[in-house]
Amino acid sequence: MKTIITGDRPTGKMHLGHYFGSIQNRVKMQYDYDTYILIADVQALTDNFDNPEKVRNSVRELALDYLASGIDPKHSHIYIQSLIPEVAELTVYFSNLVTVSRLYRNPTTKHEAGQKKDKFGESGETITYGFLGYPVSQAADITALDGDVVPVGEDQVPHIEQTREIARKFNSIYGETFKEPEAVLSETPRIKGLDGNEKMGKSLGNAIYLADNEAEITKKVMSAVTDPSKIKKDDPANPDICMVYYYHKLLKNENLDTVCSECNAGSRGCVACKKELIKVMLEFLEPIQERRKYYEEHPEEVEKILKEGTEAARARAKEVMQRVRKNMKLDYFE
Ligand code: SF4
Repeated sequence: MKTIITGDRPTGKMHLGHYFGSIQNRVKMQYDYDTYILIADVQALTDNFDNPEKVRNSVRELALDYLASGIDPKHSHIYIQSLIPEVAELTVYFSNLVTVSRLYRNPTTKHEAGQKKDKFGESGETITYGFLGYPVSQAADITALDGDVVPVGEDQVPHIEQTREIARKFNSIYGETFKEPEAVLSETPRIKGLDGNEKMGKSLGNAIYLADNEAEITKKVMSAVTDPSKIKKDDPANPDICMVYYYHKLLKNENLDTVCSECNAGSRGCVACKKELIKVMLEFLEPIQERRKYYEEHPEEVEKILKEGTEAARARAKEVMQRVRKNMKLDYFE
């Protein structure tokens, strides 16, 4: 069985964008792969180093969202990054194999640096050494567990390419040690927000969280962007430019053809259409929220799952690091 390494930074609750963009795919893949799901608390600290409380609380929230979404601890190991010190050690060894200019050239890092309103080589005031080196620590995450496959969104492909480069360089210097992991593009495109934004995101204020209650969902759906040409209830409209229809489709409303034809014909009002979407969304989230509630009420089970997942990941990383130290001539007393 091939090994998948995947995961997220714990920075808050998961939303539908995460669910359709990555979690759903992991739930499917966990039965066919040896699955390791990383809660990247060390990486979360690159942006939140001054807010450890937020990161710690989010570790629990993330674990709850994974379990609620169908990640099955019998088939997946959910583990905490900071409890695998071998990854930190490997990051140090890898840091000698990557030039600073190569890190600057990573398009995803460049883009994220832009969002922080910084330009490489200019002020350098908001970019930390940890932020710039993030692709190196990600390479260590993947290779320390002998990962074969990394399911990613398009924006993460350059990071996996960098992982492959590092693994190749390491092998060429110290002898065959690592596999070159393969990036598998997530089948689902980026999920749009109800506000029409191309992306759903916490920071964009348009996220529908897996744990949202009825009142929260109602408020968000009722303010969704529809076809602006539809002014009156019986105006015909184009569902293809309406975010409500987009979500009817995403959530596989059985009534989709009717929504489309009634919208085209002007026999459906947007308020009724939104109310129907709220119902569909609540039905979709119901099993997820039921599982979440179960695990919220059984924190000892969540802790056990995290502990066992972390032990499994660490055992694997220890084996890999024995190989690394031997090949790097660092196995002094073995
Ligand atoms: Fe969108 Fe529904 Fe209104 Fe048509 S009727 S514009 S699909 S909300």
